[in-house]
Amino acid sequence: MKGSPATVNAVVTSDLAVPRRALAIGAHPDDIEFGSGATLAKWSAAGCEVHLLVLTDGSKGTWDPSHDRADLVATREREQRDAAARLGAAEVHFARQIDGELDSGLAVRAEVCRTIRSTRPEVVLGHDPWKRYRIHPDHRHAGLLALEGIVAARDPLFFTDQLLAAHRPDVALLFEPDEIDHVEVVAERHVVARIDALLAHVSQWESTMHIAGAGPDDFVAAQRAECVAAGALLGAPFGESFKRIAEL
Ligand SMILES: [Zn+2]
Repeated sequence: MKGSPATVNAVVTSDLAVPRRALAIGAHPDDIEFGSGATLAKWSAAGCEVHLLVLTDGSKGTWDPSHDRADLVATREREQRDAAARLGAAEVHFARQIDGELDSGLAVRAEVCRTIRSTRPEVVLGHDPWKRYRIHPDHRHAGLLALEGIVAARDPLFFTDQLLAAHRPDVALLFEPDEIDHVEVVAERHVVARIDALLAHVSQWESTMHIAGAGPDDFVAAQRAECVAAGALLGAPFGESFKRIAEL
């Protein structure tokens, strides 16, 4: 769907211990749900405090060039909060960068660092910035920002003006990975929560989810199939696949 098919590492690990706190970082409203919605629903239900950081304002997310930009941004934030609630997430943080113009420079890195230091997650989830043949620049920059934000957050001499204690997460999980080496096994109810959260992004039904007049059946089936394929890597009914970075 997005970029080249992932290769699967010979050794695939599964199921981290449920973190006390997790932070998922996405380029646009809906990216986090596509990449890790079922995993976040599973962790929330098990008591994890889940935070979402959405980096851009989603203001390019329409095929209608006359759509009022401020209205679209407000709609997408509302949809993102609704989606987060459907996953059981605790809070959504918005960095409100302009959609399509995300830059993995120092200013946004500081913002990511600040969010990591203030939410203190054991696990950070984000885009794989090295996914081959993916052409949307925001996804690449968002992936770099998540990882470079971890480096800044863990080292106390970065962004000392923030007056926040340094924080080193234990693990990063990269979603829609170029190389799969980790699967989170999920139950059907977590797949349902992921799809339910995706469908909260009603403004994206046409342009992203290709849901036309016939309704969401094909989209729902494709989402289920993706979770079935990930689970099958470990002989489980459903899962989500990641690249795991354990040395942070
Ligand atoms: Zn996106």
